[in-house]
Amino acid sequence: MIVGVPKEIKNHEYRVGLTPAAAKEFVAHGHRVIIETNAGASIGFYNEDYINAGAEIINTAEEIFATADMIVKVKEPQPNECKMLREGQTLYTYLHLAPDPTQTELLVASGATCIAYETVTDNAGGLPLLAPMSEVAGRMSIQAGAHHLEKAQGGSGTLLGGVPGVAPAKVVVVGGGVVGTNAAKMAVGMGADVTILDRSLPRLRQLDDIFRGTVKTVYSTVDALDDYTAKADLVVGAVLIPGAAAPKLITKAHIKNMKPGSVLVDVAIDQGGCFETSKATTHQDPTYVIDDVVHYCVANMPGGVARTSTIALNNATLPFGLALANKGPAKAMLDDKNLLAGLNVHKGKVTYKAVVDALGEEL
Ligand code: NAD
Repeated sequence: MIVGVPKEIKNHEYRVGLTPAAAKEFVAHGHRVIIETNAGASIGFYNEDYINAGAEIINTAEEIFATADMIVKVKEPQPNECKMLREGQTLYTYLHLAPDPTQTELLVASGATCIAYETVTDNAGGLPLLAPMSEVAGRMSIQAGAHHLEKAQGGSGTLLGGVPGVAPAKVVVVGGGVVGTNAAKMAVGMGADVTILDRSLPRLRQLDDIFRGTVKTVYSTVDALDDYTAKADLVVGAVLIPGAAAPKLITKAHIKNMKPGSVLVDVAIDQGGCFETSKATTHQDPTYVIDDVVHYCVANMPGGVARTSTIALNNATLPFGLALANKGPAKAMLDDKNLLAGLNVHKGKVTYKAVVDALGEEL
């Protein structure tokens, strides 16, 4: 199979569909890999690294789309990319079609087989190609929070870990899933005083076992939120209700009650955010202040650490990508229901129920 990787064209997107190491795996399995020139150069994956891996460098995206049997990307295809896809070709990338009728229509019109990373499943009911980005965002939330607690960034001038004789900062993580667990790991590592609030008792039990007394776990009620947000130096919003907008758990009244210079990091902003005062921000201008509380609400946090994110994503996408290339998409998906769950559009039809439910009227 010919596997093609165009350079990502969304604004400030530096990730790339295949690392040189992943390209080498495809080549080792007998496939031809073609990469658009400088597709990974901004994160230190240079043309010569791909050539050393056995891949070929191609000058234009047009040529990649015209030649490849399977296109591997990171972000959803932009309209001009959708128009270059064709029947018989496979697209393997994040799609997020439910809120995006324009992209859905273009993919339907292309006739291509489109597999969305975000709906591929695992046997435990998890989303293995989404998890690495939650791990990245969770870990990054503490780095971002610690930075913005500094005086020059508008924060209260509090060091997360304190020092001998000075108490550590109080970090409250709301939602103890993949993002919340990774946030807590970083905060504990930096010596902060960490509390995780969650609505799931089984999850709180698991967290109690994982952290062995280094974090406090609290059942998330309105009362607990009142109490813990008022005392917090840093609050991380990490809740998820699958398929729904994030609940606005932390209200304007909570924000008014928080300490001046405290920091909120709303990781759930990509689902609308779990603070009533949240609005999406960018890496170029990541924060704003309401009632003396610094809000960090970057919608694509993993893009800020594009090199780590690319490698983490490739670790997760590679086995499924190799199956698609080795067996051909049809057999690969028939053999693996978890990969089949990724199929969103095929030969001019939307094949994923949640997308049909969201867009049925518009298609
Ligand atoms: P997850 O499903 O692993 O965890 C969500 C947790 O929230 C679960 O433990 C659940 O019990 C808990 N929860 C649900 N309702 C709650 C409530 N009312 N109170 C307290 N806890 C509640 O999800 P995840 O992978 O950790 O993702 C969390 C959020 O981060 C999602 O909205 C996801 O889209 C987002 N995310 C954002 C970025 C970004 O760049 N901003 C990157 C990755 C993930």
